[in-house]
This record gives sequence, C-alpha cells and structure tokens, in this order.
Amino acid sequence: MAAGARAQTSAGWLQLGVETYGGVLLAPWYDRDLGLAGRIHVRHPDGRLEGLLLNVERPVAIIPSLAIHLDRDVNQGRPINAQTQMAPVFLQGGESSDLERLLMDWIAEQHGLKEVELLDFELGFHDMQPPARIGVAGELIASARLDNLLSCFTGLEALLASDGRQGVVLVANDHEEVGSASACGAQGTFLRDVLQRVSEQLGRGGEGEFIRLVQASRMISCDNAHALHPNFTDKHDAAHGPALNGGPVIKVNASQRYATNSATAAMFRDLCREAEVPVQTFVTRADMGCGSTIGPITATELGVPTLDVGAPQWAMHSIRETAGARDVEYLTRVLTAFCNRAELV
Ligand SMILES: [Zn+2]
Repeated sequence: MAAGARAQTSAGWLQLGVETYGGVLLAPWYDRDLGLAGRIHVRHPDGRLEGLLLNVERPVAIIPSLAIHLDRDVNQGRPINAQTQMAPVFLQGGESSDLERLLMDWIAEQHGLKEVELLDFELGFHDMQPPARIGVAGELIASARLDNLLSCFTGLEALLASDGRQGVVLVANDHEEVGSASACGAQGTFLRDVLQRVSEQLGRGGEGEFIRLVQASRMISCDNAHALHPNFTDKHDAAHGPALNGGPVIKVNASQRYATNSATAAMFRDLCREAEVPVQTFVTRADMGCGSTIGPITATELGVPTLDVGAPQWAMHSIRETAGARDVEYLTRVLTAFCNRAELV
C-alpha cells in the first residue's frame, strides 16, 4: 500500500492518504503493525539532488477495524472502500505539516543529513510482523510478499549455486503487479538492451547473431502459483490442484496468459527429473479467468521460448502469504539444474 503525499486529519488524528498497489486483498491490512519504507529525494545546500532510501522499521501506523458492535453485518460481506476506509492512523493531534517534519527527522536519523530540503518521496506501508515457520512440523512459511520475492530469492540462490559454465541472466522486473508497462517493467526495453550489450561485448553484435542468441536461449518465468486451498477446493480444476510442498508448478493457459508450451514444459520436466524434484501442473478452471506473469510479455518482446513456473502458495496478495517450506529448496534445485544445463533444446 503506497502512501501518497496527501496527509489528512480526522477525529484528532493525522492519517496518510494511500493508494493500493496492484490487486490487493484489503481485509488482511486491518489491525496490523505497519512500518513505512521507500525512497526520498532531497536537495543539498550546494544544490545537489540526491535520492535516499528510508526504512522506518518500527510500527508507526495502523488501520483499525470498526468494532463488531458498530457494524453487525460486517461478516455478511461488507465491501471495503480503499479511499474512505483504509487510511492508516499515524499521529494523534498531528497536522499535515507534521509529515514533512517526521520525514526530515527520519532522514537525519538514518542518513545524518540535517540541512537538506525535502523534494519528493515514494513510500509504502508494510507489515512489521517477521516471517515465521508455521505448522506442527514447520512445513509452512508465512511472510509478506512471498509473491514474488520467493522467486527472486530462489533465482538468485540458483545463480549463485550454478557452476558458471553456461551464460545465465537473472532479471527481476518491477511493476509486474500493475501490468509491467514501465521503463523497469518487463514491457520496457531493459532486458533487450542488456542482452544486446552483452552480445556486442562477445563480438556477436549483429542483428542476425542476436536473434540466433535469443532463439538458442530459454527463459523460465518464475512467479508463485495458487495451491489448492483446503477450504475452497472448488476453486481449482479437479485434476490441477497443486499441493504445498508438492514441488514447482508448471502453469499452462491456452489463451497465453502463461507462456508455457509443450516443448518448454518438457524441458522443465526433464530438469526436475535430473534434480530429483517433484513437479506439478496448474490449469485454471475453464469457467474462471487466471492471472498472468512477465512470461508472455517477455516472450512477446524478445521472441525467446519461455515457460511459466512457480512455487505454490495460499493467500496471494494478502499482507501475509503462506507457502510450503520444502518448495523453496525444490525450486532452487531445479533452477540450478537449468543454469547448469548447456543443451537446452
Ligand atoms: Zn502477484
């Protein structure tokens, strides 16, 4: 949830106006201890502009629920209005000008800067509750942003564990949750630009050679998948309900919301066999739509043969999501096997 520049007051409280980011489950945001983090831009006395990271790692805000006594029908499916009912409570007795004062205090505290002028900022609230192992046998992990930092983590672990004989690129795009159309999103030119420059550095900078390089490559688009939920089993196709701790999930969609085809899926199944990792398949119910990923976007932009996979999880886009503890290792192992494989076709 992003905090805008708009501070507001109500009933003696300073609140922050917020925008939601991507498709959010709003209800789990209530009654959470919220920290604040992001980027701030300042001007130094000598006129120099600087961007600074800010991380207020203590609970500075909360979105309190309305008591059941004041809304007896709340459990009958009352809608939540993101504009009027989600503003976090921030400072008792505060006024709009207090926001800038607090930000300046935190810049001084975290960066030792006192003489700077605040120009702009982009900040988001986040849950202060740390990640945890859950379940009698510790078979689950619960955390914020498992979708999709789990894939960023496993991708990086795989890259670090690989033997380095095969050229590998790890790209972690921003803005996937809001359509990927930005300079740093999958629809931007970043990946193509990087690959073209690498190709030039290798002395293979011609357009024909670049096309051959892309066609000889394979891309695994890694983003979490929906595991079968024990309380909502009818939300999955009966034959395609991935289990937590059942291994990575190959995602298939005839409408190309996922980029997988039988050739790229066959390669991944073979990698799973080699890495001794179980593998599952997700196809959404024919009467339901499904999400998408950067897979089809990157495949469209680059023409690289692609497949979509991901670790299964529950509660996607909640402030706290749940995944299988063993799936992290499974995914890392198969991605490492991918990084090490020389013959991809
Ligand atoms: Zn997502």
